[in-house]
Amino acid sequence: MNYVRQFGGGSSEGRAKDKALLGGKGANLAEMASLGLPVPPGFTITTEVCRFVMEHGAGTYPDGLEAEVAAALARVEELTKTTFGDSSQPLLVSVRSGAPASMPGMMDTILNLGLNDTTVAALAAQSGNPRFAWDCYRRFVAMYGEVVLGVTSAEEHEPEPFDTILDEVKRKHRANRDQDLTEAALREAVALFKAEVLRVTGAPFPDDVRTQLWGAIGAVFQSWNNPRADVYRKLHNIPASMGTAVNVQVMVFGNLGDDCATGVAFTRNPATGSAELYGEFLINAQGEDVVAGIRTPEPINELARTLPAAHAELVRVAKLLEDHFRDMQDLEFTIQNGQLFMLQTRAGKRTGKAMIKVAVDLVAEGKLGHREAVMRIDPAKLDEVLHPTIDPKARPPAIGKGLPASPGAAIGRVVFTATAAEEWANKGERVLLVRTDTSPEDIHGMKAAVGILTARGGMTSHSAVVARGMGKCCVTACTSLRVDAAKKTAVFAGGALGSGKELRINEGDTLTLDGSTGEVFQGSAPLVPAQLGSELGQLMTWVDEIRTLHVRTNADTPTDARTARSFGAEGIGLCRTEHMFFQPERILAVREMILAADEAGRRTALAKILPMQRGDFAELFRVMDGLPVTIRLLDPPLHEFLPHTPQEIDEVAQQLGKPAQVIAAKVSELTEANPMLGHRGCRLAITYPEIYEIQAQAIAEAALEVNKAGVKVVPEIMIPLVMVPEELRRLRELVARTVDRVLAGSGITYTIGTMIELPRACVVADRIAEHADFFSFGTNDLTQTTFGLSRDDAGRFLPTYLDRGVLPADPFVAIDPEGVGALIELGVRGGRATKPGLKVGICGEHGGEPSSVEFCHRAGFDYVSCSPFRVPIARVAAARAALASEARK
Ligand code: PEP
Ligand code: MG
Repeated sequence: MNYVRQFGGGSSEGRAKDKALLGGKGANLAEMASLGLPVPPGFTITTEVCRFVMEHGAGTYPDGLEAEVAAALARVEELTKTTFGDSSQPLLVSVRSGAPASMPGMMDTILNLGLNDTTVAALAAQSGNPRFAWDCYRRFVAMYGEVVLGVTSAEEHEPEPFDTILDEVKRKHRANRDQDLTEAALREAVALFKAEVLRVTGAPFPDDVRTQLWGAIGAVFQSWNNPRADVYRKLHNIPASMGTAVNVQVMVFGNLGDDCATGVAFTRNPATGSAELYGEFLINAQGEDVVAGIRTPEPINELARTLPAAHAELVRVAKLLEDHFRDMQDLEFTIQNGQLFMLQTRAGKRTGKAMIKVAVDLVAEGKLGHREAVMRIDPAKLDEVLHPTIDPKARPPAIGKGLPASPGAAIGRVVFTATAAEEWANKGERVLLVRTDTSPEDIHGMKAAVGILTARGGMTSHSAVVARGMGKCCVTACTSLRVDAAKKTAVFAGGALGSGKELRINEGDTLTLDGSTGEVFQGSAPLVPAQLGSELGQLMTWVDEIRTLHVRTNADTPTDARTARSFGAEGIGLCRTEHMFFQPERILAVREMILAADEAGRRTALAKILPMQRGDFAELFRVMDGLPVTIRLLDPPLHEFLPHTPQEIDEVAQQLGKPAQVIAAKVSELTEANPMLGHRGCRLAITYPEIYEIQAQAIAEAALEVNKAGVKVVPEIMIPLVMVPEELRRLRELVARTVDRVLAGSGITYTIGTMIELPRACVVADRIAEHADFFSFGTNDLTQTTFGLSRDDAGRFLPTYLDRGVLPADPFVAIDPEGVGALIELGVRGGRATKPGLKVGICGEHGGEPSSVEFCHRAGFDYVSCSPFRVPIARVAAARAALASEARK
């Protein structure tokens, strides 16, 4: 067998490790079957076939596939004593996608395949339950009609055609719920569904079971390229070349009666990580009902009461699988006439909080080592636990409550369709996507929204699973909510909870969601900073033992510095001094300096700035007591500080006692066509040395002052945007002369280094290093200048580059290893050729992005520096990078 692998019936031709070929679902079905667990038999068509189809076009398959599928089907028939399309013992199968990377709900699935007017009668006779048989048939015709034959609604807010027909039938037969439909009503639904297929497609619904099977296989392969799968792949960096496998498996039925059920379970709580079997089930239902959130499912503990034997078996299997995979599992199961069948197991998606707790608990349980636990942490997901929640002391009354599907708090303006969410977000709005329930088509809207609220669903419905994966706040099953997407409005039936009045909200209204409690608030509720649990502290001790890369923070204010220190920052890697200039009480002095006619005028203004800067630096030294503080001297173009509008010019003229025309003339004199490439960085100090001189004096005096108070100061002075060694030689001399004068006899030591943020600086780094005690790569400017892409304007067209795959990732987010990375490596090599022990760090935005941190580790950096909230992320990424390079050795 080449393209098809079998599983079930006591053996399997694959294992969990074969995910690339069999997809996650297929590989784990094979693994479960080989462990002797109750898995309905079936077979997997490999991802190789998907790649073949993508290359050769829909419906073109490799030679021999048909014969392999026929042989695999024959084996399943033999194992189950059934025959595909048979009039007395028909074989029914499910056809499901299964990619190597988990993509929940993004691709297509068809259940109950093999039903037609003949086999449905056999199923009715066999089960003794004609209503059940016809219920399966109507589900199959609708699913197949939608997925394979493309009978769907044209607009996203319009109901699906088969749903509309079914609602009609329900009305006519006075059936409230799907379960209330009689056999006669279901027969009518099937007939109407088929008529709709004929009307829309011009061809009758296929009766031939092999035609059905190949139609479904083709559709599942095609669904790899559907828009929602595409969006999901981009979001999770899943390569399009991976392809999906197709799993064909014997159907088991959770809808044969009250001793049947279907459900999903996690071996631990996916929101909190606590060790309890957690999940939901529906009695007498098919799996799609749980995932789609059409009926509200019951919590798994209820199963112990309703079907105790099956519950006990599920508990046994769950433990066995978690122990086998040594990780929290997400299980799909069906109970048919009291007997449990496993349909899927995979590593469970979890919140950041659960991710940490599960890893730490598995270590405590002796199942994982420290290093493995660290490798289980997705650094980017830590974001969730580090983010603010609603202030418990100032909680407004809730206007609704649903299930706490994905934690954190989100404040945003309400929109009712995924498309609106995307449009509003593109205009810079923070939006909440509010829906009756979400479907995989909504993925682009969920991505654009800051939070998701649904009236239906559960903890494992589509919206919950996808939101959790994205680390986005989500509340599901808010049952008092009624959404009218077409009219762009919704009501909360209870009003303010308990008030009994109805509360209407319209598109654009602001709501706050609490994804940790499931509550919904009107307007924006006050937030408090994240509370870090003890598990994170425990994990971080392992992280710190493993990593070799130091993690500093970019901080301009004492508050930022304190936050960063509480997150474990080992110093400040970048203090942008100009950020201190924008405060209202300072900007005037800064403007006076810029507008001065000569050096004397500049010095007068700088004398006003000096004490303010000294105070700022002193406070930073105090907060960072004992840790290095890298202070960058003035960097941006001067005109950034100038008034621009006529009113601003008038105001400044008045404040400075100068005519408005003089100010206006100076502003236009300082205006540059390309300020980013203009008079900025150390170029300012080459022309006006007194600026750096006074800044250096402020740093030195601050160091001296706090040192006297017993604080250990480690000042590092950094000169930005150096392009030729001569700039640094001159400015180092200037700064050192000033600092030495102040610090003489104090015993305080300091260093002077430079930012490497221009390609030329990378190339001549060996000569720049002659004048530098350290290098800090400014990868924001280095990316800008290497690509020739404006940092400020690229956002307008870079998304197109990413969407169309011209660039694999945004180079302003993750270091571009081929271009910018190669220059950095050149710079490090050059610098250390001159000074072997040269300290090297990074302070561009990339310093907190996991793949870039890994790059820095490999390139031999001493430290990365990033924004305070990303410090824990960088620490974990640094540890994972250390483990990865150990593994490579
Ligand atoms: C950089 O260019 O990477 C950097 C840190 O400096 P700034 O962002 O202030 O230009
Ligand atoms: Mg820069």
